[in-house]
Amino acid sequence: MRLTFSPAEEAFRQEVRAFVKEHLPAGIKRKVELGLRLEHADYVTWFRILEARGWLTPGWPVEHGGPGWTHVQRYLFDEETMLGGAPRIIASGIQMLGPVLIAFGTPEQKARYLPDIRQSNTWWAQGFSEPGAGSDLAAVRTTAVLEPDGKHFVVNGHKVWTSYAHWCSMMFALVRTDPDAAKPQEGISFLLIDMKSPGVDVRPIRMLEGGTDLNECYLDNVRVPVGNLVGELHKGWSYGKYLLGHERTGIAGIGSCKQQLERARTLAVQQGLEHDAVLQARLAQFEIELLALEFTALRLLSPNQQSRVPAVEASMLKVRGTELRQAIYELLVEIAGPHAVPFDEGALLGEGGDGGDGADAASPPELAALAANYLDARKLSIYGGVNEVQRNLISKAFLSA
Ligand SMILES: Cc1cc2nc3c(=O)[nH]c(=O)nc-3n(C[C@H](O)[C@H](O)[C@H](O)COP(=O)(O)OP(=O)(O)OC[C@H]3O[C@@H](n4cnc5c(N)ncnc54)[C@H](O)[C@@H]3O)c2cc1C
Repeated sequence: MRLTFSPAEEAFRQEVRAFVKEHLPAGIKRKVELGLRLEHADYVTWFRILEARGWLTPGWPVEHGGPGWTHVQRYLFDEETMLGGAPRIIASGIQMLGPVLIAFGTPEQKARYLPDIRQSNTWWAQGFSEPGAGSDLAAVRTTAVLEPDGKHFVVNGHKVWTSYAHWCSMMFALVRTDPDAAKPQEGISFLLIDMKSPGVDVRPIRMLEGGTDLNECYLDNVRVPVGNLVGELHKGWSYGKYLLGHERTGIAGIGSCKQQLERARTLAVQQGLEHDAVLQARLAQFEIELLALEFTALRLLSPNQQSRVPAVEASMLKVRGTELRQAIYELLVEIAGPHAVPFDEGALLGEGGDGGDGADAASPPELAALAANYLDARKLSIYGGVNEVQRNLISKAFLSA
């Protein structure tokens, strides 16, 4: 098994590195480095720069605008963009819906929706989770009933935790079309819903770190043309599973782990802790764990690898990668000490606030967002399938065999 990169792969790495250095706008890079919230325009700007180079949709086939990369190139691309301070790719349109439409969509759906995803003209919300249907996704209760003339579905229900729905003009949703099916998985369909339709109500959810990236979406008698059904009626569960396989791909976030570990090293120096033996030992420990994770990922990418259970291997990477990132964020907070919990003295004294960005004039800007970043990282072990469920999948595959 070969676990090093070939000269061609190393050359590709350098090409991506140089591209990011030259084209990533400095303002966006600075926000990423400081752990600040990115605006919709920041993402769109970067995504369009990538698209102009043909690099926004690495997982798509060449005939749909993908660059035709190997898995190793995609891995290197993720790592280099993260290390270069680029925003992560928002998955819903590019990494989730795109592959589903390519595999199961009609020619009309592909022609209508895929180019707009690539151009970042349309942002898609993922309407899967509901109150009572998260880990147990087959319990979705949102209904879609076909009107008597067979031209429209009428959708009623309540989706929750819908990332970036306030920026999205479309949603792909799992909806129940056959409440009498023998198994809950069998009566579900995959529907594309225009979020500007009458009856769609998006309400923000305030997150731990103060942002509102998440939303609740209420669907009240929303009429959806029958042409917006993806694949076959009642077969949506299999398309949803296909999509979730793509969601978990890359969720280990090795590039992001490296990015944050580098941030920890830089902050340690800034805080005068570069000779602190305990801190250095912890950094070294993370380095080792990250190396082990990286080698596991590379082993899976190796052409000789005969994957026993690919979905389970993705689960292993997801659990280890997300837990490692959470631990690194915890270390970042410890390095910053009291500076990690900034407060706005002006706001407390009634002299006007800092506009809500949490910055404390007394704290170096590199530290001001750390508490928010730490809190935000709690989500990593939840989305994409909670880690407890991933552990169940792993144990079922390997321990009960
Ligand atoms: C930041 C973020 C973004 C998200 N974005 C989206 C989105 O865009 N679209 C969307 O549809 N959803 C989204 N989600 C929802 C996400 O998919 C669900 O939160 C996740 O599937 C868990 O479902 P739940 O929240 O209902 O928790 P539950 O399923 O109720 O689980 C709660 C806890 O119970 C335990 N548990 C549950 N089941 C098991 C089990 N079988 N074995 C062991 N323990 C178990 C676990 O500890 C789990 O953490 C997002 C979530 C987060 C945090």
